[in-house]
Amino acid sequence: MHLKKRCAVTGGAGFLGSHLCERLLKEGRDVLCIDNFYTGSKRNIVHLLGTPYFELMRHDITYPLYVEVDEIFNLACPASPIHYQNDPVQTTKVNVHGSINMLGLAKRVKAKIMQASTSEVYGDPKVHPQEESYWGHVNPIGLRSCYDEGKRCAETLFFDYHRQHRLKIKVARIFNTYGPRMHPNDGRVVSNFIVQALQNKPITIYGDGSQTRSFCYVDDLIEGFLRLMDSPDEFTGPVNLGNPGEFTIMELAEKIREMTGTKSEWVFKPLPQDDPIMRKPDISLAESKLGWKPKVPLAEGLRKTIDYFDDLLRSGNSG
Ligand code: NAD
Ligand code: UDP
Repeated sequence: MHLKKRCAVTGGAGFLGSHLCERLLKEGRDVLCIDNFYTGSKRNIVHLLGTPYFELMRHDITYPLYVEVDEIFNLACPASPIHYQNDPVQTTKVNVHGSINMLGLAKRVKAKIMQASTSEVYGDPKVHPQEESYWGHVNPIGLRSCYDEGKRCAETLFFDYHRQHRLKIKVARIFNTYGPRMHPNDGRVVSNFIVQALQNKPITIYGDGSQTRSFCYVDDLIEGFLRLMDSPDEFTGPVNLGNPGEFTIMELAEKIREMTGTKSEWVFKPLPQDDPIMRKPDISLAESKLGWKPKVPLAEGLRKTIDYFDDLLRSGNSG
């Protein structure tokens, strides 16, 4: 009998994983952070080392793992287009082999397991806003496919383990999330624009900037993860977790320019292949099943994120 719930977080040294580890510790859980540091960093979790009930394990989840835990949060996977396209075969592997290994682990120890899926399963959506019943519009052979199809296959595996082996599963479809500890060079739009603005460098708008995204602050998302994991076993998801506030990329750039007081100008670059034109979550399922909706407005979340990157750049520690 264990007094504390033992939670494994794969990808625990990444942006979302490090916030999740921190929050789980605050909730009094025993945390095993598993990461191979592909895109994550010790810097994200160094403040947790030495905390009782926090344990760090360097491990690549495409290889089997034998540990004893009660819950698994499966976040391991590079998330930004630059990172996941750097080694696309490894991206598919982490989603397919990695998920099989973590599902196998969950099956052996009878753990509940949550998958960090993504709005990318909807591809370049033809339905707006996206609700969970939409099957998506995904290119199976493009540059984004390793991630999109990898995540779709991971969802298939989760549901087959659920049906075939009665595993307790939870699938969260995460929409663009931002906040402190995003990697400064991972090319995602919020980190790119803030770092460019703080350095008075040109702000890179891909396409004409009319494409939309809906940005969720990290603390809101982590609250959603916990509510989902603690929800009744019958509720498996998939469930959208994101902020329905929708902005064009140009609006985001303008907001960041105004908030940083930068001298940066715009520079227009080609729109990357298969870049979705619009994205906005329908979160009615999360609201009704989890009593969850995001609370942090974009301006407040951006303020915290700008302050984080400002400190990071000043410390000269952003590599
Ligand atoms: P991130 O790149 O900061 O974190 C991913 C972590 O996984 C890193 O620490 C990395 O080192 C680790 N990792 C990668 N391959 C691994 C492997 N084989 N074994 C062990 N660890 C491995 O990205 P993030 O934004 O924190 O995303 C976390 C998860 O959430 C990912 O699965 C991502 O697909 C999903 N997600 C994120 C967003 C978002 O907006 N941040 C949106 C949708 C989905
Ligand atoms: N984007 C941009 N400039 C940048 C980085 C991204 O205009 O410097 C655009 C990108 O083309 C996309 C949107 O911002 O339309 C969000 O990109 P991100 O890589 O953050 O996430 P995703 O495309 O996976 O939603």
